[in-house]
Amino acid sequence: MDVLKKVPVREQDPKVRATNFEEVCLGYNEEEAMAEATRCIKCKNPKCVAGCPVAIDIPGFIKEVEKGNHAEAARVIAKSSALPAVCGRVCPQESQCEGKCIRGIKGEPVSIGKLERFVADWARENGIVPEKPEKTNGKKVAVIGSGPSGLTCAGDLAKLGYEVTIFEALHEPGGVLTYGIPEFRLPKERVVQPEIDNVRKLGVTIETNVVIGKSVTIDELLDEEGFQAVFIGSGAGLPMFMGIPGENANGVFSANEYLTRSNLMKAFRDDYDTPIVAGKKVAVVGGGNVAMDAARTALRLGAEVHVVYRRSEAELPARVEEVHHAKEEGIIFDLLTNPLEIFVNDNGWVTGMKCIRMELGEPDASGRRRPIEIEGSEFVIDVDTVIMSLGTSPNPLISATTKGLDINKRKCIIAEESTGKTSKDGVYAGGDAVTGAATVILAMEAGRAGARGIDEYLSGQ
Ligand SMILES: Cc1cc2nc3c(=O)[nH]c(=O)nc-3n(C[C@H](O)[C@H](O)[C@H](O)COP(=O)(O)OP(=O)(O)OC[C@H]3O[C@@H](n4cnc5c(N)ncnc54)[C@H](O)[C@@H]3O)c2cc1C
Ligand code: SF4
Repeated sequence: MDVLKKVPVREQDPKVRATNFEEVCLGYNEEEAMAEATRCIKCKNPKCVAGCPVAIDIPGFIKEVEKGNHAEAARVIAKSSALPAVCGRVCPQESQCEGKCIRGIKGEPVSIGKLERFVADWARENGIVPEKPEKTNGKKVAVIGSGPSGLTCAGDLAKLGYEVTIFEALHEPGGVLTYGIPEFRLPKERVVQPEIDNVRKLGVTIETNVVIGKSVTIDELLDEEGFQAVFIGSGAGLPMFMGIPGENANGVFSANEYLTRSNLMKAFRDDYDTPIVAGKKVAVVGGGNVAMDAARTALRLGAEVHVVYRRSEAELPARVEEVHHAKEEGIIFDLLTNPLEIFVNDNGWVTGMKCIRMELGEPDASGRRRPIEIEGSEFVIDVDTVIMSLGTSPNPLISATTKGLDINKRKCIIAEESTGKTSKDGVYAGGDAVTGAATVILAMEAGRAGARGIDEYLSGQ
């Protein structure tokens, strides 16, 4: 074994997986995981832990994997994370724990994400479940939204003895884990649902089909329904558009709508009736993780797919692994290209997209080089479907219906980072609703901070 290299992880063949929705990465088996665990040198001052937003004791759990004590490894991880099978699959480890791993200086870092995934899958397959606290303290907390921030906040509060109810607008809990990230990266029945069930097993109640701000308001929860505090983890589900001509045509989707139809409403399965436009030739506009997910979904539904992005490959915001997988599967990258107009036929359907070539200028406020149009370089891509993946912002429903809840100019709720405290007494917030679209692990960290803030607030009452 070459200690400078990760034990390779098995994956579905790109040609095969491009035609199915099964998970791409097959993960480590026990032998592979134990071999990879020997590469960790159990640093005294582990930089990997500092790189993990929820500070998992990484050398601690890897040490247990190396010895074959996988149940103990699961307990070590559970102290810091309620969603390890999810995080092991979708966290950007390359810029977090693995980006800091000391092994990465001379060779490849330890494959921390794949080891976390192995432990979480092993624990699930071997029936290891979290223990429910023996008694509650009788205090009721409402959590809005069942994404990673809400689930983490609810789980942490339940462990402290609070009676927690999560209110979820959709008919299935999980937030983006359920409606956004596709099955081929994050299986729903096998991975997401069991981790949500683990939060339920801590005593948390999840009420679906409840839209806070419509079915009931936050003020009513606090004043009439007996909740003593509220955590808002409602995410950032409102899609942005470019504002170019033709964007209202049939065949133009937001990535959120497209992915929700496929993931939540199971449009990709023959036994469901959910309509979706599979498209023959699809343009996905944008270069983030969401764009990669939309592109790879459209590919699996049978289309030729172009990712249209206005900067170069170096600036693509998506995870390196996602771009690599997308390329392997046959997604075409039209880089340094920006849409100007969508062409529409007499029936209102997309017939093509006019674009212009770009070049990179000086860095802008984001630190990335500014894309500049190359005069006279317009051209047309003959697509029949366009998926806009330009980012999202929080839905204003909750802020508009809650007196005294301050938001910033990006419509994000203003909350203290270390406690989640908002401008309204007893109301805490975290995750994408506060930061704008970010990551699963940052949302979990914010959920944890919110639980701490609520506990401090209610302990003083
Ligand atoms: C397609 C896609 C792919 C992504 N891929 C990755 C990835 O690979 N790695 C990564 O780390 N991050 C990824 N992200 C980002 C990550 O999923 C989010 O940052 C994270 O889910 C945010 O968690 P959250 O709890 O704040 O909100 P969400 O997950 O958005 O959950 C919010 C929940 O609140 C509910 N809600 C909203 N309003 C109300 C209301 N008024 N009443 C009741 N319920 C309400 C929503 O229905 C939703 O279920 C991806 C995001 C998308 C969209
Ligand atoms: S930094 Fe790398 S080698 Fe050191 S403890 Fe963390 S995972 Fe192990």
